[in-house]
Amino acid sequence: MSLSQLAKSISESPTLKLNETAALLRDKGEPVIHLGGGEPKSKAPIDAIVSCASLLSTGDVKYTPADGIPALKKAIIRYTEEHYGRSALAENVIASSGAKQSIMVLLHAILDPKEEVIFPVPYWVSYPEMVKLAGGVPVPVAARSGGFEPTVEEIAENVGTNTKAIIINSPNNPSGAVYSDEFVAGVVELCEKRDLYLIMDDTYNRLIFENRKPTNVYDFSHSLSLDSSKLVVINCVSKMYAMTGFRIGWTIGSKQVVRAMTNIQSQQTSGPAAPSQWAAVGALNGVQSSVESLRVTLENNRNVMLKRLGGFSGVRVVKPGGTFYCFPDFSAYEKDSQKLCHLLLDKVRVVTVPGREFGMEGHLRMSFCGTIKEITEGVERIKWALDPEAPNELYLGDRKLVRDWR
Ligand code: PMP
Repeated sequence: MSLSQLAKSISESPTLKLNETAALLRDKGEPVIHLGGGEPKSKAPIDAIVSCASLLSTGDVKYTPADGIPALKKAIIRYTEEHYGRSALAENVIASSGAKQSIMVLLHAILDPKEEVIFPVPYWVSYPEMVKLAGGVPVPVAARSGGFEPTVEEIAENVGTNTKAIIINSPNNPSGAVYSDEFVAGVVELCEKRDLYLIMDDTYNRLIFENRKPTNVYDFSHSLSLDSSKLVVINCVSKMYAMTGFRIGWTIGSKQVVRAMTNIQSQQTSGPAAPSQWAAVGALNGVQSSVESLRVTLENNRNVMLKRLGGFSGVRVVKPGGTFYCFPDFSAYEKDSQKLCHLLLDKVRVVTVPGREFGMEGHLRMSFCGTIKEITEGVERIKWALDPEAPNELYLGDRKLVRDWR
């Protein structure tokens, strides 16, 4: 069968594939612990459900404007004022089917063939593939220090005549790192000086710990109006409101960019699903306590995971400042993260995501969005599988495992 060059160049989302594998194993009754997940366990806010259900109960569920219903745009404008102190007009806002589509449509709107998009390593798995889908060239930039935050100079060294945009995601998937104000300010300045788009992926913006204030990228911008700026902010209800299945994300940018995105989206998918848009209206305008309660739960989960990982000699872990991921370095045990991930799934039924998918070998992404029991038992099983000092036997339920691989 003949497939396009583009199709052949794009790989499957490894995180979605791992979800499928975990679900298949669970269906077979296997005691899988999923530390590879990318979504909070909590329920969607009640205001989201009520708002969505009230549309459904009319039975009148129709196409919406390609850039979103006015009520959702209004809610997003209010959210932007409250959390970013920026006034936006309806023409500066487009709602899409998840932040994933927001970024994809944005890349289609700004990239010409072979133009380059820079992002720091480690990066969200989808950035390179999305840039390629839009005809561009991904340029990941690793910190020479080996850490999770390159310097602005390292980013600047990679800016060339083909560079069109820089993507920054903070707090970061997969490292949980909250980039320093100096770094974000430096990248904003670099983009403004070199006339580049800056795509700020704020998917986890308010899921940050130790009472830190969420980063407001506009604070570092010298542009007075959204329309004169190439700074574009992406957000969604997926993680902060635990609404991954609703698929609502949005973009705030100049009228010109938003108009181009609307044209593309109108031909590609039309507006996002109407019930989901009403759910997002409910979430954004409703009682906000669920975001704080999720944040507090995640901070506690993070502390439990760090404590457990702390008992693991050889594993180096940097404390995540936000999100629900940590990204320990397991290279003392195994340098090949894919091999390690498969070993852990095969032998002790723990799902993790190989660091290689995020551009950083030797690491594993481990999520702490599950229950405390999953976190503690998951880390215990990993420790048992890797630590030569651990006893030779482990019980998974009533199944006795004998370590025969070390
Ligand atoms: N950006 C980042 C950094 C993410 O981690 C994700 C989801 N894993 C998205 C964007 C996409 O979010 P959504 O589910 O709203 O499409």
